[in-house]
Amino acid sequence: MIPKLKFLVPFSFLCAAPVFAETERQLDAHNHGEAMLNIVMDGKLMELTFISPSANLIGFEHKPKNQEQQAKVDSAKEMLADYTKLFGLPSQAACKPIKSAVHWTFDEGSGHEEHDEHEEHGDHDEHEEHDEHEGAVHSELEAEWRLACEKVDALNSIEVQLFKHFPALEKLHVEAIFADSPLAATLTSDDNLIKRPK
Ligand SMILES: [Zn+2]
Repeated sequence: MIPKLKFLVPFSFLCAAPVFAETERQLDAHNHGEAMLNIVMDGKLMELTFISPSANLIGFEHKPKNQEQQAKVDSAKEMLADYTKLFGLPSQAACKPIKSAVHWTFDEGSGHEEHDEHEEHGDHDEHEEHDEHEGAVHSELEAEWRLACEKVDALNSIEVQLFKHFPALEKLHVEAIFADSPLAATLTSDDNLIKRPK
């Protein structure tokens, strides 16, 4: 179980990090079945950030419209709050949770919906992209976990269990920075181990 938050760490800490900006850019693609996981190790601290289209986790992307859908959101949130169910870390690393947070953006159009009707269609290349999603609602979930690990050297792999709990997730794009070693990998349910670079 995650202990109750004893103190609140401002999110600006994460938002200001360049890694976070990278994540946002990449997720603009918003491909259902795919998600991003960023891992940053800094000393004994490890931060994991998971960003996924909601469809991968609850099967829809609109705001919950009934109790059944709300229950799906609630149980997914509950699942995501406990990193021990999602990530298998070597016990020798002795990692302890410091905080976790789950944000759900049921983003219905982001203010783009009106200008198609009122502007002439001409040289506006920018319209092409969202015409294809006309009427569709997309939303994403972002979960963050911050851990402190006593024996960072023992942290040589992370087994990702997200696929087991969220079968609609097919590909997880991982970007990790372990001390000075960057790692980029795409995981699947058959290949779900993040191996720390030697
Ligand atoms: Zn979507």
